[in-house]
Amino acid sequence: MEGIVQGVGFRPFVHALATRLGLAGLVGNDSGGVFAEVEGTPAAVAEFRAALEREAPPLALIERVSAEEIPPLGEAGFAIASSVADGERQALVSPDSATCQDCLRELREPADRRYRYPFVNCTNCGPRFTIVRDVPYDRPFTTMAPFAMCPACAREYHDPADRRFHAQPVCCPACGPALRLTGRDGGPIPEADADPIVGAAELLRAGRVVAVKGLGGYHLAADASSAAAVGALRSRKHREDKPFAVMVADLTAARRLAAVDDVEARLLSSPRRPIVLLARRPDAAVAGPVAPGNRRLGLMLPYTPLHHLLAAELGRPFVLTSGNVSDEPIAYRDEEALERLSSIADAFLVHDRPIHIRTDDSVSRAFRGGELPLRRSRGHVPQPLPLPWSLRRPVLACGAELKSTFCLAKGRRAFVSHHIGDLENYETLRSFREGVEHFRRLFDIAPELVAHDLHPEYLSTKYAGDLDGVELLGVQHHHAHVASCLADNGEEGPVIGVAFDGLGYGGDGTIWGGELLVADLAGFERAGLIEPVRLPGGAAAIREPWRMAAAHLVAAFDGAAPEHLEVVRRNAARWQRVVEVATAGVNSPLTSSAGRLFDAVAAILGVRDAINYEGQAAVELEQLADPAERGAYRAGIAAGPPLRLQGGDLIRAVVEDLGRGVDPAAIAARFHRGLAAAIAAGCTLLREASGLEVVALSGGVFQNLLLLREAVGLLERRGFRVLLHRRVPPNDGGISLGQVAVAGAADRGCRATA
Ligand code: ZN
Ligand code: ZN
Ligand code: FE
Repeated sequence: MEGIVQGVGFRPFVHALATRLGLAGLVGNDSGGVFAEVEGTPAAVAEFRAALEREAPPLALIERVSAEEIPPLGEAGFAIASSVADGERQALVSPDSATCQDCLRELREPADRRYRYPFVNCTNCGPRFTIVRDVPYDRPFTTMAPFAMCPACAREYHDPADRRFHAQPVCCPACGPALRLTGRDGGPIPEADADPIVGAAELLRAGRVVAVKGLGGYHLAADASSAAAVGALRSRKHREDKPFAVMVADLTAARRLAAVDDVEARLLSSPRRPIVLLARRPDAAVAGPVAPGNRRLGLMLPYTPLHHLLAAELGRPFVLTSGNVSDEPIAYRDEEALERLSSIADAFLVHDRPIHIRTDDSVSRAFRGGELPLRRSRGHVPQPLPLPWSLRRPVLACGAELKSTFCLAKGRRAFVSHHIGDLENYETLRSFREGVEHFRRLFDIAPELVAHDLHPEYLSTKYAGDLDGVELLGVQHHHAHVASCLADNGEEGPVIGVAFDGLGYGGDGTIWGGELLVADLAGFERAGLIEPVRLPGGAAAIREPWRMAAAHLVAAFDGAAPEHLEVVRRNAARWQRVVEVATAGVNSPLTSSAGRLFDAVAAILGVRDAINYEGQAAVELEQLADPAERGAYRAGIAAGPPLRLQGGDLIRAVVEDLGRGVDPAAIAARFHRGLAAAIAAGCTLLREASGLEVVALSGGVFQNLLLLREAVGLLERRGFRVLLHRRVPPNDGGISLGQVAVAGAADRGCRATA
């Protein structure tokens, strides 16, 4: 058996199964996974084979079962063989997993020896990836190494019939990590309750900010119902508007704050426990500063025993956001956390089990009966994603810049990394480097082919360029998006790929971001795009959407942007200058970006002129849109190749409706629906030319559910099969998987890539 079959209770499961079926033989671990030899009646052996996959333990992930016949030995009884540690490492490390029902029962049972013990875990749950220092996955190679098991824990660990047989992080109050509550100086808090959980809950109720050491890093917690507490957290963290996630005790508590359908309930309570973005209830008892101006709320359920205890003790929802200052990586080492977070947190709820690797919470939304991942990290990583075919040589893909991930791949397995963050500073780059080294060691992959973005200034591109003895392959950003969607779906194309995002290096001197590509994994043709406009002032235009309004208005009105608009008045001091820059094209590259088109419309509608986090204007425009509105603007398409979607038509329609006094909520909706219609019309024209019936939707713009829903609906009505992201995010967090797929296809000797 290959896959995630070690450290998840697989051998005891096989032992119990064989015993039940009256089979003799043995089961053991080797470097490739788990092997078993069984002998018995043909019917019993067949049932054994079937039950292996049907009844496998909850955390097991079986990738492959191979079987061969060997001569019977005539033995009786079934044994568990000791581990064989040699050869190539292929056994997999499993992701961290939320506390299971059995462990929760013990946590709440006063008679149990692990009653209220914040580190209870077993073979079916607990920390994994975040505590693994090296392979094989054995206690000495985890951050549990310093804790010697007490006799009671050792008994459980060695008993094949026990739920904790070979559970590496097994521990109890007598032998395991301990929790403590300290002040911001790391010293004790004299007036606090002796029980750290009770003490922390009291502080939170009193409106204090408490840093909580979690599974993959430190969080900052505050009472979600207190505007003062959450406001203080916001200002100390220098985070102005970006929504905070909230932890609630259970599904019932979640339903008091947000609408939760079946798929969302399943996501919330899955062992991966992501933050799930939900429609906030109007009467939700959550303070304004938790998610300012937001109709959505990111909720998660407790995933460690510590969280369960804290949620129960506090008895109300609490903000649980990454422990960092604005854009820095989340803190995960104790001294570092104390240093960096002491200006934010009033107290620290900490413990002495080290976190080996920083891993942020995953973030998800439900879409059409399934998951639309927005950030794939804790709970998912390092579970490999299957590639459609086997790679010829091992590949490292370095990803892009924002929401960075890397991907190491060998054979048919692609190990997409945890969320590294925005690769814009030294701290994050160090995380990236260390992450690559860690993955290389864990999965024994020595990359020979290294894929990177074409942008010469990305730190990930420079990192790739500095590597010795490897072959480099530049992959165009939007090709990588489409390839990522293909690989996500286990397909190779060709497809019509719609890659809509903020910005990506085009390779032709312009910046892309509203692309229709006819593509397969090996190559692409730029078959359509949003008619380019200027990006006035380059990076400044990303931070200030009103500049994009100026550029789009100048383009749509032939140089004569209407002067009566509010956006012009609000930015009067600099408006004319930016119009001149946009007209002359000074320091203003051309861009086909869909994200910047959203920015322009958001600024024109008065949603916002400057942003505090990436994508903010578009997020707010989506929320402004009236979901009941049925109208849509019409964008013309200029004949190609490549086809050019006329964004200017949408801009003129927005201005016209605004002049007529139409509600901005209706205008925002008509814009979304109009852009979706333009996508569908463009794809239909490309189908006539190419015969392709499949469309892949990728890029950060498709995190916008209103646009996504409209586009998918229109495409399906026209008979297209539509591929969506289900395993990696449509945003740049999914780029590394796409780069691996492109590199792999190129390496098979297919067409050269751009
Ligand atoms: Zn458990
Ligand atoms: Zn113990
Ligand atoms: Fe992108």
